[in-house]
Amino acid sequence: MDCIFCKIINKEMPTDFIYEDESVVAFGDIRPSAPIHYLVVPREHIQSIIYLQKNHQEIISKLIFTAKNIAEKFGLKGYKLVFNVGREGGQIIDHLHLHLLGGWKNEAGKINV
Ligand code: AMP
Ligand code: ZN
Repeated sequence: MDCIFCKIINKEMPTDFIYEDESVVAFGDIRPSAPIHYLVVPREHIQSIIYLQKNHQEIISKLIFTAKNIAEKFGLKGYKLVFNVGREGGQIIDHLHLHLLGGWKNEAGKINV
């Protein structure tokens, strides 16, 4: 399968992980849209939220808790967690990922909802 995030996870593409464990990895977005922009990615290849099954509840919860822990590590008081879902939802990489965006000065994070 030609999936760039699977290649990153399998270490076929050198990428620094800010966090990794048995089920998720997290790394910096190559084209950051915010001062702090990380992607939290399950090791399992799930195409998108559209393809979620009931047995994925645990991994979705894990993605959110991992993002929360990274945000706390950076001392973020506020941030955005974003899933782009399908092409119409702006998803480009077909391997499920949660965007953690933050680090704006003032209240810049209030715009672009
Ligand atoms: P999405 O639009 O939700 O599919 O987001 C995919 C994100 O992956 C984009 O923000 C890209 O900048 C990011 N991205 C693509 N390739 C890489 C890569 N090799 N390493 C890190 N981030 C990447
Ligand atoms: Zn994949």
